[in-house]
Amino acid sequence: MTLEQVIDNFKETYPFDDTSIIKQAYDFALEVHKDQKRLNGEPMMEHLLQTAYILGDLKLDATTLAAGILHDVLEYTPITLKQIKNEFGEEIAFLVESLTFIKKVKYRDKDKFNEREAEKIRKILISMAQDIRVILIKLADRLHNLKTLYALPEKNQKRLAFETLEIYAPIADRLGIGEIKGQLEDLAFSYAYPKEYQELLGQVKNRYTKGKIYIQRLIPHLKKVLAKEGISIVEIHGRSKHYYSLYRKLVHSDMDWHGIFDLVAVRIIVPDIESCYATLGVIHKRWKPLMGRIKDYIAVPKPNGYRSLHTTVFCQGGQITEFQIRTAQMHEEAENGIAANWYYNEIKKKSKTKLTSTCPSQKLMQEIVLVKQLQEWQKQRFASPQDFFNSLKIDYLQKRIFVFTPKGDVINLPENATSVDFAYNVHSDIGDHCAGTKVDGRLISLNSPLKNGQVVEIIIQKNQKPNKDWLKFSKTNRAKARIRAWYNKN
Ligand code: MN
Repeated sequence: MTLEQVIDNFKETYPFDDTSIIKQAYDFALEVHKDQKRLNGEPMMEHLLQTAYILGDLKLDATTLAAGILHDVLEYTPITLKQIKNEFGEEIAFLVESLTFIKKVKYRDKDKFNEREAEKIRKILISMAQDIRVILIKLADRLHNLKTLYALPEKNQKRLAFETLEIYAPIADRLGIGEIKGQLEDLAFSYAYPKEYQELLGQVKNRYTKGKIYIQRLIPHLKKVLAKEGISIVEIHGRSKHYYSLYRKLVHSDMDWHGIFDLVAVRIIVPDIESCYATLGVIHKRWKPLMGRIKDYIAVPKPNGYRSLHTTVFCQGGQITEFQIRTAQMHEEAENGIAANWYYNEIKKKSKTKLTSTCPSQKLMQEIVLVKQLQEWQKQRFASPQDFFNSLKIDYLQKRIFVFTPKGDVINLPENATSVDFAYNVHSDIGDHCAGTKVDGRLISLNSPLKNGQVVEIIIQKNQKPNKDWLKFSKTNRAKARIRAWYNKN
């Protein structure tokens, strides 16, 4: 991969934008990473350019691509945050720092991992990132890491593969980035479950080939049918189901292939919403639909924002075939999710106000994520509106900080929380007996506010008891309630 390829790819989306910041990041990285190599023998620059290229595919702006190129600088070179700030300004420094910061959150033991824990980590990563571009760079970084995973020792392969399946692919899904989610899952699948992967590959090969040939024959016919009814078409193509999502569907149905009708589907892209419904009408007029398989995700989008019409019909020669009908914008959104939302918003803004800068609105991005998360969580988790509101309050109406236990577990606390809050959050016994605190190896007093990213170690003494003064500086209800409970009891 060369810098020119990255810039050409970027220019396909933003033909008139200034690309000098990308070039500047490239020159800087080249100098500081010098001839560093990755485990697969490729130069470090290859990884950085690949990451930036993926960000270009997501139609992100020049600033984000530059941050993508610089994302490993703090970890692998002696360069400091201050130097990045001087060289590239606050925004890029913030992105690079956040990326280095979220690396501390690690998925550790596969067996001790449950869905609740995974959900917690996903939430933490999203809110920790503050700016959604941090997550997007992380996803691009991870995608390229998986592409070169063969070079790592088996133990690391497994850890990264499971972490991807449990944490990063679901985040990509939640943000509606279907394309990256599918790629992440399929790459991780082969390392996480190699035996199952090979088995599926064997079973699927012929079916995919047959399906593709069938679709290739169907498309010209379909074009004629639609043209006759006066429907204009942007594009028609076949799409194959990703392996991992197929595997999960099969596991769900006891490996029974009979219910799988969407192995290869036909995707029809039309100019506007009216044409979507008109196309659906034409297809149903011509071929009988299967009951219960007509889905209107335009009227009722999926929680992650996905929109399309789906239908499955008895098509040519009785072959059961799934159709997915959508506009070009819906297609873009289905592939690039939140990044596409951003892109469309930038375009709108530009045409209205003739903004020359493509600097994205951080606030806008946060709002989109927030809305999408809320939609999702609202559907999935909350029994009552009160529950939902409480959780919203906890997660978003307060500013949060994230600190670490010496083992690397993340503890999420409100701003200005102290060691007492931390201790009670870990365990009430630890809270009751906490006598002092070490932060990043240095002793601090119990009432000093903790800061984002600190590693906190509580010093415990058996004869230590809770102190009423703690109520004055503890910030969490949990700590206050435990201290009061202790006094009531004693
Ligand atoms: Mn990296």
